[in-house]
Amino acid sequence: MRPTPPATHLPTAPPTRVRAVNDTPINHGGDFVLYWMIAYRRPAWNFALQHAIAHAAAAARPLVILEALRCDYPWASDRLHGFILDGMAANLRHLAARPVTYHPYVERTPGGGKGLLESLGRHACLVVTDDYPAFFLPRMVEAAGRKLPCRLEAVDHNGLLPLQAGVKYHSAAYHFRRHLQKVLPSHLEETPLPSPFDGVRLPRLPALPSSITERWPSAIDLIAASTRDCLAALPIDHGVSGGYAGGGITAGRGRLTRFVEGPLARYADERNLPGVEGASSLSPYLHFGHLSAHEIFWRVAKEEGWSLGDQSHETKGKREGWWHMSRGAEAFLDQLVTWREVGFNACVFDPRHGSFDSLPSWALRTLGRHELDARTHLYSFDELDQAETDDPLWNAAQTQLAREGRLHNYLRMLWGKKILEWSATPRDALDTMLRLNDRYALDGRDPNSLSGIFWCLGRYDRPWPERPIYGTVRSMSSPATARKVPVAEYLARYRPRAGRRRPSAPAG
Ligand SMILES: Cc1cc2nc3c(=O)[nH]c(=O)nc-3n(C[C@H](O)[C@H](O)[C@H](O)COP(=O)(O)OP(=O)(O)OC[C@H]3O[C@@H](n4cnc5c(N)ncnc54)[C@H](O)[C@@H]3O)c2cc1C
Repeated sequence: MRPTPPATHLPTAPPTRVRAVNDTPINHGGDFVLYWMIAYRRPAWNFALQHAIAHAAAAARPLVILEALRCDYPWASDRLHGFILDGMAANLRHLAARPVTYHPYVERTPGGGKGLLESLGRHACLVVTDDYPAFFLPRMVEAAGRKLPCRLEAVDHNGLLPLQAGVKYHSAAYHFRRHLQKVLPSHLEETPLPSPFDGVRLPRLPALPSSITERWPSAIDLIAASTRDCLAALPIDHGVSGGYAGGGITAGRGRLTRFVEGPLARYADERNLPGVEGASSLSPYLHFGHLSAHEIFWRVAKEEGWSLGDQSHETKGKREGWWHMSRGAEAFLDQLVTWREVGFNACVFDPRHGSFDSLPSWALRTLGRHELDARTHLYSFDELDQAETDDPLWNAAQTQLAREGRLHNYLRMLWGKKILEWSATPRDALDTMLRLNDRYALDGRDPNSLSGIFWCLGRYDRPWPERPIYGTVRSMSSPATARKVPVAEYLARYRPRAGRRRPSAPAG
């Protein structure tokens, strides 16, 4: 369903990025326009927010932003909640002087937030939300579309390429890269506003209806007091806490600046070295929407003195040299754009993308043929969760994931491959990888979680020489990894603590 754009002088989101979730008309008598912020949790570089602002300006109505945090979503923990609450605190600061009513809501008991969106929707002209294609969000948005008494529009701001412009499922990064080289330049002309409130005048809402704020009070006090202190009282997984980074747009921008001014130049050579901070560590900020891929892209482009039109006009899918940027920037953009967005493409165009059977047929065949191969080690889920294997490098990787919520990309590949080797069946391996990654990783529960984990089982790859258990799926081993990249310091840093077991992941 294509919505009709509002008559406004302010830029809306590009039409290819906007989808009407229901066919309920706009309520022209509504009191405000509501932006339901569920995935792009940021006040800047945000097509969905920009779209909502344009609608509010066209209707001469106030804008309300609802950023809600449920406590019963899968894997809700101190770590994930803490990161999101940091983001809410940053949004509160950014939006304080803007013409908008920001309503951050934190659910205290499961189901406590039920009815909040509909109640706000009864007063709204229309609701704008984020069109994120993974985790429980698509189901939640479709359900909201059925219940809301006004129009619900979902805006896709997942990446540089609008999801619909992917056109079809791309089974290899190479094919997707070729497609990007053909169509991305025209989409790059559509850049979201870095500061969408600049120069915007909107009427102010004196207050939200008290029937709403009394039942679903704003979490402003709670956020301002101390993000971490309030977590203990919430019914979430307290066995997973801390993490390597704090959330929010300000923290994300700090990390982006440090990366662009330092490691970016060496990224092509150092991104694969565990123990060296050679990568950007931006994935949680991308996952929770605290930073947009556009802001990161244009920050790199600025550093490189690059502008649109400087890229090659070839469309042969070459990995390096297409952007006409430095080696480091080319390598980084291949991850940020090709590898990141091919995962989003699968979520939209392959309905089976989350199931084992979506693997390429050669991978299914070869894994099936080797399913009964003898395993030298068969570890239980609990042993893997607790990093209690006979492989010190794998244990270090699992320890880093559990302790910090991140895992270096190179070791992440080894981590997944070994789980395949140590599980009774490839389906069990898939289940274990998803559970561990989604529970511990700050950037988990993402389209990239699926592409990375399914890559370990053959997706986006080709057949390699045949081995036991793996068949022709690419294998990896810890001794080979230790020969390729220095791991001594990493092993020392992430040694599992003897005798202290973490609370295990809940049964799946
Ligand atoms: C088993 C396994 C599980 C993974 N699970 C996740 C996950 O849950 N969430 C997640 O975001 N990524 C996942 N990845 C991909 C990759 O490991 C991370 O994106 C990357 O390590 C994040 O660190 P960074 O931000 O420093 O990356 P950088 O190297 O700085 O790259 C910049 C951005 O590009 C994207 N990117 C980088 N490498 C990849 C890749 N291989 N595939 C897709 N996108 C990439 C990410 O958005 C990343 O933030 C997984 C990979 C594997 C092998």
